[in-house]
Amino acid sequence: MASLVPCPHCGSRPKEEFTVKGAALPRPAPDAGEQVWMDYVYLRDNPRGRYEEFWHHTSGCRRWLVVTRDTATHEIEASRDVAFGTSPEARA
Ligand SMILES: [Zn+2]
Repeated sequence: MASLVPCPHCGSRPKEEFTVKGAALPRPAPDAGEQVWMDYVYLRDNPRGRYEEFWHHTSGCRRWLVVTRDTATHEIEASRDVAFGTSPEARA
């Protein structure tokens, strides 16, 4: 795991300041149906390579971020404030 994580608000910070909360999946519509919600809540892919995750800067600005990380090398490619949205390819 990368030892420094780029926060768009605080700059590069130690990974120990963050809490990782899993895949940054697009949220289904409220009426999407039971199976779609079951998949969203319980099913996760185990991809190798580029992946987007929700990270909380718990010991910093306390903002939620979407961090793009390579699951094989743990190299962090980018981060952005979650207020800018999640991308639909997050599950790819
Ligand atoms: Zn921060």
